[in-house]
Order: sequence, then C-alpha cells, then structure tokens
Amino acid sequence: MSDFDRSNSVTMSGTGLCPGISVGTAYRVEPRSAVLCQIRIARQEVSSELSRLREAVEESRRELQQVKLKFEAEVGKEHAYIIDAHLLILEDQQFLQEIEKRICEELQSPERAVREAADKWVYFYRSLEDPFFQERGSDVEEVVERLVSNLVQLNPHSPHDLPEDLILVAPEVSLFLLSEYPLDQLKGLVLKKGGETSHVVIVARSCQIPVVSGIEAMEETIRTGDTLILDGVSGTVVVRPSESHIRSFQVQARTERKRVQERVQDSSPCVTVDGRKITLYANAEIGSEVPEGMKLGAEGIGLFRSEYIYMLDKSQPVSEERQLEIYKTVAREVGDRPAIIRTLDLGDEGHPYFSRIAGGREPSMGLRGIRLSLRYPEIYKSQVRAILRANHRGNLKIVFPMVSGVDEVIQGRQLIREVQEELKQKGLYDGDDIEVGVMVELPAAVFLLKEISAHVNFLAVGSNDLIQYTLAAGRNNEQVAYLFNPLHPAVLKSLFRVAEVAKESQVIALVCGEIASHPVYAHLLVGMGFQYLSMNSFAIPDIKQVIRETSYLEARDTVDHLLSLVTLDETEAYIKHHLKDRLGLPVDQLTN
Ligand code: PEP
Ligand code: MG
Repeated sequence: MSDFDRSNSVTMSGTGLCPGISVGTAYRVEPRSAVLCQIRIARQEVSSELSRLREAVEESRRELQQVKLKFEAEVGKEHAYIIDAHLLILEDQQFLQEIEKRICEELQSPERAVREAADKWVYFYRSLEDPFFQERGSDVEEVVERLVSNLVQLNPHSPHDLPEDLILVAPEVSLFLLSEYPLDQLKGLVLKKGGETSHVVIVARSCQIPVVSGIEAMEETIRTGDTLILDGVSGTVVVRPSESHIRSFQVQARTERKRVQERVQDSSPCVTVDGRKITLYANAEIGSEVPEGMKLGAEGIGLFRSEYIYMLDKSQPVSEERQLEIYKTVAREVGDRPAIIRTLDLGDEGHPYFSRIAGGREPSMGLRGIRLSLRYPEIYKSQVRAILRANHRGNLKIVFPMVSGVDEVIQGRQLIREVQEELKQKGLYDGDDIEVGVMVELPAAVFLLKEISAHVNFLAVGSNDLIQYTLAAGRNNEQVAYLFNPLHPAVLKSLFRVAEVAKESQVIALVCGEIASHPVYAHLLVGMGFQYLSMNSFAIPDIKQVIRETSYLEARDTVDHLLSLVTLDETEAYIKHHLKDRLGLPVDQLTN
C-alpha cells in the first residue's frame, strides 16, 4: 500500500517487526540470482570482467583446497572426495570456456554467465532418476554459489561504499546475508518477507534495529540512496521524506531512546504481587549484547544463540580459537551469573558451507541442531572444546537444540565427556562436569519430557519452534501466519505439560522463545508455573513491570480457564476480554 504526495515522498505500510524509529539511507539488495540475471556489461568491460572471473575461480579453488585439508585432518580422508567433486567442477574446461564465451560474446556479467552455464548442467542432472546424479546437481549448485559469492566480493560494492546510516532494503534477508553488512552501521531493514521469529529479525531486535516487513512495492518505489524514515512499531516506511517530516521523526526517536534509557537502572528483583520470584534472563546472539542485557536487569544469559559466530567464517566452520574468545567474553561479562550457550543450530540461514553439508533440502526439518552436531562430531567437539576452555568460572552451561529423544541427549553428553577427558589430559580443563540442558521445541521432546528430564540439568522451551512444529506452520510462512499462534489450544496444552512435567521431575524449565518477551504471554507463562523467562534484553524492563503487577494465583486461574477452551477463537476472545479489560495488558499483536 502506498500513497504519493506532491514532494515525491511516498508512505508505505507494512508490519513493524522490531520497534524503534530511524532515519537512514536505502541500500537495495537483491537476492543474487534475481539481480544478477538482469546485468549486462559494456564491451569495454570484457577484459576486466574476465579477470574478475579468473580471480574468483582461483579464490574458490584456494578455499576448496583449504576445506579439503581441514576435512582430511578432522573428518577423515575418506570424506574428502566430496570436496574433490567440487574441485573437478571448478576445473572443468568446458564449463569455464562456456562462461567466458557468454561474457565475451553475449556481454553477460560473470555472475549471470556462471549461473546460466551451470543451469544446463543442473537441469540435466536433476532430470535423471538416479539419486547419485541428482546429488551431482546439488554439487554444481554449491560450486556456483561459492563462485558467485567470490565474484560478488570482488565487486566494487565493498562495505566501505556503504552509507553510514545504512537501511537494507531487500525482499528477504538470511542470517548469512545480514552478516555481510556492518551491524553498527545498520539503521534498519525493510523487507518483503520476514517473520517475527526469524533469526534475522531476532538479531535485529537484539541490536535495536527497526524492521518493517511486508513492503511489497519496494522495487518500484525505493532506490538506493533514497532517504527513508522507518517506524518499526507502526510498520511505516516514508520514502524521500520532507525536511520537516525528518525533524518530527527525530524528536520521536529521541523520546523513545530516553524512555528505554530511563528504565535501564531498575535492578530490583522480579516478584509477583503474591511473592513468587520469577528469574529474568536475556537472550543474546552476538557477544556485545551480553553487557547490555546485564545493564537492563538480566540475571544471566538464558540463551546464547551461537549461529552468528559461525558467520565469521564463510567457507568453513569457524575456528575453535575464535569461538573461545567470544565464549570467554560472555563468561566474563555475566560474572557470577549463568550463561547458557546453545550448540550450533543453523537451519535456513544461507551459510554456504553448512547448507552444503546439511544437504540443502527442507532446512527447518533437516540436518540441523543436535542432529548435525552428532553427524559431524568434529564440528561439534570443536565448539564444546571452546565452551569448556572458556568456562574457568564454571558459569557456562550447554543446551542442545532440536532434540527429538533421549538417544541424542546421551550421545551429545558422551561426546562432551570425551572432550572433557581430552582437555584434562592436556591440562586445559580442570573444572567439574558442565551442566547440560535441552531445548524443548519439538513435540517429540514434549511427549518424552519425563524421560529426557532424567538425563539433563535443565529444560529450555523454544516456543518459536515448538509452535512451528506442533502446528506444522512455518515460522516465516505468511500463508499460515494465522495458525502460528501461541494461543492455539494445542500449544497452550504443550506448554502447560512442560511446566507440569518439569515440576514433577524437579528440573528447572525456562522459556526462551519470543513469547517470553510479550507481556500477555509472560503473564500466562507465570500462571502455568514457569519461574524462569529469557528474552530480548530490551523487553526485560517491561516484562518485569508486568510480572510485578501479576498475581500468580490469578494468572493460574486464567490458565486453568484457557486450558478448558477448545478453539483458537475462544482462547483469543477470552484473552482479549479478560487480560485487556481486567489487567490492561496489550492484547494487540498477539501473533505474528
Ligand atoms: C525457539 O525455537 O523458540 C528458540 C528459542 O530458538 P530459535 O528461535 O533460535 O530457533
Ligand atoms: Mg529453536
């Protein structure tokens, strides 16, 4: 939706996903395949573009050789043939000649020429029934992604050219793409697609970067270099605003910043009106958020998502030493408080190396989380080694993502013990056993909760995924966003069951999905019996306030009544009436 005024300024409406107001300069980013297919080069650019292609081929070859050496050393020589297959594609003269011909004769950009030359192969392999050849199609696609990503890096658009007040405008942004831009320069994201619980939006929220999604007409309306005003609450984007418009938004932005800063100082405990202590932790995605969380009153880090660390290296798993530095900083910043580090859980984040080894298909239901860790123990053990080596104070804990049963917990713990032994022998670890928990985010884990509880020190409810998998409604799929709703009776019953089983099993259960940072759901979670909530740091002051006004016993009655309702319409209507009218809680934006 958009409306024009005489000054050529356009106001567009979408959905605000991360609050905040900012003014900045638009930088359009297209999904590579889409933009690159439109680009043609000028005849006088042929020779420089051929050099760029050759450099990118060389760089890709160097990267693959390095990956191969690492694979041989850490995973075993027998697996290195996968990399050989990629090297062979990269050295195929027929393939390279076809690309060069497209550049020289058809004046295609190297990126486009690579893709078009490869498409023929991919199509051919994919048309064969044999799964072996189907896989070769994926190999070609992976080599193309590597080559294109190196070509793009050799492009003149280096981060130095980016505006200081960068607002990325893109149909969709993966975590990998986000990691290619300097977060400290990023003032906002304007997207066509993006769910409230997508990892990109979660990272943006924790860095207080406003996000507006659902801006369909971006291609026609926003150009790179346009000034934009972004309002992440109302979901408004003003393109090419007038000076007076900018000034009024700057005033609003200052008022909002002041409001957040004023709440920062509150470090008093969080207790319900009837005396029940609720511990609030912060979630963190990048190391620099940890001190922010502590400043805002967090009693520890309830979920440190380690995925962003893996974006530091684009072509292989990030090294143990780089991880070690980050975990050491986290351990130091939390001091005596706990920090729960989640082992790697890359799903559809677009990281070329991990997409490759995970097989690329159905990333949300594929080889991710603990499954990937157990399939590639060397990657997992390197992360565990880094966590243990950083754990001098004994305040770090580990949580496994995507656990579907007890077997994974036993195997994951066994490998931790092996790492511990190896480190002890080398004199690099003298601590006790590290506490281990699991993310409860698959219905399987809810069914097996009692059995799983016997093998862990704590449970962490990942409501984002629990909702997605309980209802089979993708967390970023707007077609089924109406279903992705914490008030769905099946979700409420699952959450309640977790709280009950954890109590019976005497295991601590914390909730670290996005629902913990919403006042209505935080109130309900307290009523269910949860006493540990972990959330985006900036939500802590507001949630603390809500809990201080909550009566645990009343919230429990609300939950009892909710659990007796059988349709989503009924639960929503009840919450809207009951919590808004009686408690004045914000019931708008109850879902994505
Ligand atoms: C969750 O699933 O709720 C969760 C906390 O993990 P993530 O959002 O990283 O999947
Ligand atoms: Mg999850």
